[in-house]
Amino acid sequence: MSCIKRETALPSRQGSDGSDFNAFAAMQPRAPALIPADARNGGRVKSANVPPEGVYLPNNNRLAPHMRSPEYVQMSTAAAITLGVMSGKMHRCSCTRCLNLLLTYPEGCRANCAYCGLARHREADRDYADRNFIRVDWPAVPTEQVVDIVARDGERTPFHRMCISMITHPRSDADTVTVLKTWTDRIDPSRLPVSILSNPTTMQREDVARLKDMGADIFTVALDAATPQIFDRTRGKGVDSPHSWKKYWEVLEDARDIFGREKFGAHIIVGMGETEHDVLTLVQRLVDMGGHSHMFCFFPEKGSLMDHLPATPRDQWRRVQLARYLIDYAQVRVEQMRFDSEGRVIDFGIPQAELDDVIDKGTAFRTSGCPGKEAEDVSACDRPYGDSPPSNVASYPFALEPVDIRKVRQQLRLQKAGESYAEGDDLDPENWIARD
Ligand code: SF4
Repeated sequence: MSCIKRETALPSRQGSDGSDFNAFAAMQPRAPALIPADARNGGRVKSANVPPEGVYLPNNNRLAPHMRSPEYVQMSTAAAITLGVMSGKMHRCSCTRCLNLLLTYPEGCRANCAYCGLARHREADRDYADRNFIRVDWPAVPTEQVVDIVARDGERTPFHRMCISMITHPRSDADTVTVLKTWTDRIDPSRLPVSILSNPTTMQREDVARLKDMGADIFTVALDAATPQIFDRTRGKGVDSPHSWKKYWEVLEDARDIFGREKFGAHIIVGMGETEHDVLTLVQRLVDMGGHSHMFCFFPEKGSLMDHLPATPRDQWRRVQLARYLIDYAQVRVEQMRFDSEGRVIDFGIPQAELDDVIDKGTAFRTSGCPGKEAEDVSACDRPYGDSPPSNVASYPFALEPVDIRKVRQQLRLQKAGESYAEGDDLDPENWIARD
């Protein structure tokens, strides 16, 4: 069997409490600051009411214009570069394959998730359209302009998938429907499939069914937390946020019933205090339901309530990434794996030669998410450097080269005889984007 040898305690690798994993006790969010009355609910933006003029590139040195969905949507920096509404180059990526559209309002997301750059408490320090989210800015673009470009490009579009990301806002259910209709009126969803990253808190079963009827292909639920305790602490009562574990599971089960096998999934963030056994048991539960897990490595987002906490140590992340891939795509079950007393994977449950083949292919370490046109186990949504800097990549947004595999093996402590990796071999920079 494929065991990680651990005769002695592992040396510290930047995890919480000096351990090689982020333990629950150490991953406590900080309390939010008070929000000035004039900044609440997008007050500054709404009272100035500056009309938008086309594409808005985030700039926290001035007041954001008054933009709201469905007329406007935000998109990741990578998507804006790929769409051609913003200039810049990405480290080792020519483009992204997923056009992720985020609903936008001056009031912003009304939830307060502790790890998230879009959270409500940030009203105190920046307008919604200027908030960093998964490490990048999110330019705002008129929805019609987005659809015009993709419809015009036809078969030449670089995108393999479009995704509408809902946020927690009283308008988000209705506006998701409008944005989806605006898209499908001009772009055939069987040619360019659409995913919905949902907001269960405001949704009912009929909302899920309506999106399916309108042509959505995959429905995902951003569970994010791997256990009910972490969920409550990071996105429920612990941070004065409206979400509940129970409601998220209800909508996930609705998605299973309505979208069917392989067409639903859940996002999970690794390293917020769960054990490796916790998160992999959840991955197995999702697979047993017929769905997939889309995984992120915890990164302390600047301005979030967890920005003082350590990123997930790479060895913890790699073990979970590899084990998740085996469960999701190689029919290995969590019960075949072995864990130590801290819940860490010590045996992946398959022979070493088979494990080596999976590691050397590299797919297990790429960004996970809804598939594009390349393969079922390769995500269209590659989120370049959304969960790490390029100098220490967590989720690879491109196919791994031999030097990357050597680095991953070193992080897993599963080096092959005669092969080594030294820091700096891959010359990855700190900055992933060069603005022209
Ligand atoms: S609901 Fe989503 S967008 Fe809103 S704060 Fe939570 S994680 Fe961020």
